[in-house]
Amino acid sequence: MTTIPDLDLPEGVQPTPLALLMLGRGKDPHSERGVECPGDLPPASDPDLVERARAAKEKLGGNLFVLGHHYQRDEVIQFADVTGDSFKLAREAAARPEAPYIVFCGVHFMAESADILTAAHQQVILPDLAAGCSMADMAAIEQVEEAWEVLQDAGVADVTVPVSYMNSSADIKGFTGRHGGTICTSSNAKRALEWAFAKGEKVLFLPDQHLGRNTAVLQLGMSLDDCVVYDPHKPAGGLTADQLRAARMILWRGHCSVHGRFTLECVKDVRERIPDVTVLVHPECRHEVVTNADLVGSTEYIIKTVDAAPAGSAWAVGTELNLVKRLAKRHPDKTIVFLDRTVCFCSTMNRIDLPHLVWALESLVDGRVVNRIQVDEDTAHWARVALDQMLALPGA
Ligand code: SF4
Repeated sequence: MTTIPDLDLPEGVQPTPLALLMLGRGKDPHSERGVECPGDLPPASDPDLVERARAAKEKLGGNLFVLGHHYQRDEVIQFADVTGDSFKLAREAAARPEAPYIVFCGVHFMAESADILTAAHQQVILPDLAAGCSMADMAAIEQVEEAWEVLQDAGVADVTVPVSYMNSSADIKGFTGRHGGTICTSSNAKRALEWAFAKGEKVLFLPDQHLGRNTAVLQLGMSLDDCVVYDPHKPAGGLTADQLRAARMILWRGHCSVHGRFTLECVKDVRERIPDVTVLVHPECRHEVVTNADLVGSTEYIIKTVDAAPAGSAWAVGTELNLVKRLAKRHPDKTIVFLDRTVCFCSTMNRIDLPHLVWALESLVDGRVVNRIQVDEDTAHWARVALDQMLALPGA
């Protein structure tokens, strides 16, 4: 774990690990921060990059399947055979067993999920290993195992069901499967929580506190007092045994650095700037942003809603900037703006650029598999158990 030295922190409080290794330098293979890219990348200034990617793709033909997450850059997404959110992409890869090489243009936990769900002969490649996810990194397996011991000491582990967001490492998905829980996405979080509460009295929700809180309060009718936040950097999560016994939702203290930056001020500001604007946000946003927005939903919901909106309508969208810009370009007859005045991309998603994609594809043409993402068998087994549980949710 990378720590920040020389901080004057209160006793017992651990510093937060750096969310991203600076410019992908250094090694931390056990973390979503990834490791340094080992290859000789073509320079970004090479005018032939688009042509080189096209030629390599053509040579690889049906042996290659390229997945592109909605938050990827345009220069990369143009080479995707299919676009979607992380779960849709993993399932698409599993549905193409004839393609031995899956190049995943997204982040590390997504490539892990694709490896878990695809056949043994399929190899999943992440063009830049430094493309991690700061949210997934906020829940390390050692911290989560320790939290489970805290729940055991408080006498509540037996009645607690873990529910983990898709945006988590394979280790956390494996933990969830081992402890009888389920994975969820932003589209099915309500159904996942209903299932979990039919099975137990409490939910340990990992790693995004905002999705957990927004779903519990706005969709299941709980109160904010039913929720407590477990802070892995504090002894016993910063909670007493009585607080854990009284809580129904035990929220892990994690968040998305992109969606977590939108504030209530952003919502007020855009309403003043654009009359009749509809504010549409992702449920990874803070509770006060979601409660003051007009519409809330997953990435797929956001895309469908904006696509179906009438010409002349105005939208302020609270999600990753690459996607908002793409939507604005696709619908010049509508006003579509980013919810925050300050622009901000997901820095790790943006690690996947054309030079990395060209390098990964040309390496495959030369018979070299680079940056393969492989989840160990035991972790993959339990993670699959948790993913299968999600697929078996009522109405799934
Ligand atoms: S947008 Fe948020 S959740 Fe998605 S990869 Fe970036 S930091 Fe992680």
